[in-house]
Amino acid sequence: MSSTTNQVIRCKAAVAWEAGKPLVIEEVEVAPPQKMEVRIKILFTSLCHTDVYFWEAKGQNPVFPRILGHEAGGVVESVGEGVTELQPGDHVLPVFTGECKECAHCKSEESNMCDLLRINTDRGVMIHDQKSRFSINGKPIFHFVGTSTFSEYTVVHVGCLAKINPLAPLDKVCVLSCGISTGLGATLNVAKPKKGSSVAIFGLGAVGLAAAEGARIAGASRIIGVDLNANRFELAKKFGVTEFVNPKDYKKPVQEVIAEMTNGGVDRSVECTGHIDAMISAFECVHDGWGVAVLVGVPHKDAVFKTSPLNLLNERTLKGTFFGNYKPRSDIPSVVEKYMNKELELEKFITHELPFSEINKAFDLMLKGEGLRCIIRMGE
Ligand code: NAD
Ligand code: ZN
Repeated sequence: MSSTTNQVIRCKAAVAWEAGKPLVIEEVEVAPPQKMEVRIKILFTSLCHTDVYFWEAKGQNPVFPRILGHEAGGVVESVGEGVTELQPGDHVLPVFTGECKECAHCKSEESNMCDLLRINTDRGVMIHDQKSRFSINGKPIFHFVGTSTFSEYTVVHVGCLAKINPLAPLDKVCVLSCGISTGLGATLNVAKPKKGSSVAIFGLGAVGLAAAEGARIAGASRIIGVDLNANRFELAKKFGVTEFVNPKDYKKPVQEVIAEMTNGGVDRSVECTGHIDAMISAFECVHDGWGVAVLVGVPHKDAVFKTSPLNLLNERTLKGTFFGNYKPRSDIPSVVEKYMNKELELEKFITHELPFSEINKAFDLMLKGEGLRCIIRMGE
């Protein structure tokens, strides 16, 4: 037992007080973990576009003040009542969607949409007592997707923690806690391209490039990258993307451009932009008869997907996925092993590093579309 067990911990956290305003590093109180909860010390965290959407809160419900962050790696500090499979010192990756291991979804091989712990972006409190574990002078600060990793310590439900190999470097494998696993799983677990097939990837951020990495691992022969930002193309070459399409370079819809390039459409497409136009194009660019499109991007809350039903009658399939269909506790430890035995490269996704005190710079980089993942070191 550590000296902090059952005590409130005071530590630094980056608080989002208002939508779109720079985060402020504050001293916060972090309450001890309650039933089925674990308090973890975050060592590294990184920024994913989903954090930026909820910080901007333009197309999402505003929940403030809030501690954002969901891509991270840390070490267990203490555990609450009922937690038996984790103990202080274990290395963990927090995940925004959980696995209770008891509900119908957790028992189904096909789903990772746990009834108890599936992602809920509007909830700012813990499930157990509907309260926050964070406060400043007694005033509660809300959680974000059950993880809130922009804090030196955070409290997470045990079902949202993957226990990983303690030898895995947390400053690298932390990116598997969201974006990279999401993209990789979207291709390998959901789109499932056959060897030699063609795959279009919409959006060449970290998630899209991880989807491209999945296509490369699956043996796809053509990987077509689609992005509005031409700067992404150079970077994407390292990820096995073989051709590039910038929708801005064409007058006709990008789905028509891709259909012409591929004799009727790609075998698979994976959308990783969050923009509704790209989602529709990603669906309409797959080949009739067998094409499968997978949506990954998080849309504006009022977005509506519009397409002719004929596109479905013509035997195209549209799917969506959270977290690449991985079950966080059961599957993520083995994705970490893929990195450990060099099947999967993570270094190429990490383009920037910053100390925690400069976390706002990571937001600037993402807003400018520079780089892929910025690792934020919690210890200065
Ligand atoms: P990112 O901002 O780094 O990358 C998105 C890319 O899409 C950018 O390069 C941008 O230029 C490009 N883009 C935007 N609009 C486009 C359009 N209309 N056509 C083509 N390209 C376009 O973001 P990221 O961190 O890689 O995340 C990608 C998406 O995945 C986000 O929407 C994020 O919220 C979502 N996400 C979903 C899950 C999930 O489980 N479903 C998990 C993590 C992230
Ligand atoms: Zn469950």
